[in-house]
Amino acid sequence: MGMERIRFGLGLGWIAATLVFAAGARAEDCGSGVHIQLSAPETAQGTLLLAEVRSVKPLASITGKWGERDVPFWKEDASRKTESSEDVRRALLGVDLEKPAGKYSFTADAQLASGKRVSCAVSIGVEEGHFAKESLTVKQQFVEPNPEQEARAKAEQQRLLEIYNTVTPERLWDGPFRMPLVGDFKGSNFGKRRILNGQPRSPHGGTDFPAPSGTPVHASQRGRVVLAEELFFSGNTVVVDHGLGIYTFYCHFSEIDAKVGDIVDAGTVIGKVGATGRVTGPHLHWALEVERARVSALDIVKLLNRESRPVAAGH
Ligand SMILES: [Zn+2]
Repeated sequence: MGMERIRFGLGLGWIAATLVFAAGARAEDCGSGVHIQLSAPETAQGTLLLAEVRSVKPLASITGKWGERDVPFWKEDASRKTESSEDVRRALLGVDLEKPAGKYSFTADAQLASGKRVSCAVSIGVEEGHFAKESLTVKQQFVEPNPEQEARAKAEQQRLLEIYNTVTPERLWDGPFRMPLVGDFKGSNFGKRRILNGQPRSPHGGTDFPAPSGTPVHASQRGRVVLAEELFFSGNTVVVDHGLGIYTFYCHFSEIDAKVGDIVDAGTVIGKVGATGRVTGPHLHWALEVERARVSALDIVKLLNRESRPVAAGH
């Protein structure tokens, strides 16, 4: 019975992984037995894409270039493969929520074990996201902070940028990313253009989950806690580094249950929902940064929601 359950699970994974690459995506031939494929050739601001490179012959190295950033690939675990002995590499590409709409190119440069170099380029169409506008009223200090508060908020913003600019070369996670709350909580507001107390502010970079204070918040995947403290705007905040430039950010906690340096697993409780910082009521604000791009955190749950086994779609 145990075996059957395992087999059933793998079957579902196969279907889900096939779906990730199904809609309009086809593999581009890069020559020398190397192909590249994107989860979607057209996308919108604030979304996440999965790129996959498959090579008949083993690869010695591969790096991607997406805008100004070098994008690290990871190697899919060979033990999961049953169909082929191809070398499969994957990478996540974040389309920032304010990236101007247009045509972009993603390139991957690979070197075969034989020393031969292969270069692949795929074009990605980005369209404007359909983000709502909203006007909110919050405590005046969060819209017009006094000089001391402003200096504090600026310094905290700078620290966050430094964290996000650091690309930990190892992938610290394996398997699917999960939702941070257990239960039927709905997340919304990602990308919303905001007017606070009548003044335009930067777009909302996370997804908000209204939930009762005290609701446990779980790490979405394995990683290292790189920030765990009270910040001016976000209140009690935890940031988890998952490696490869991928960070999840959780805030407004009533209580932080993690400390810097902790290695957390998918599901580890890192804090409790609260209403600290710039809020109108208790909720979890959950955000995802991938290579400095602010993208919807829900996308990583959708894209890597199963044993994402490599698929042969498009061949
Ligand atoms: Zn929020």
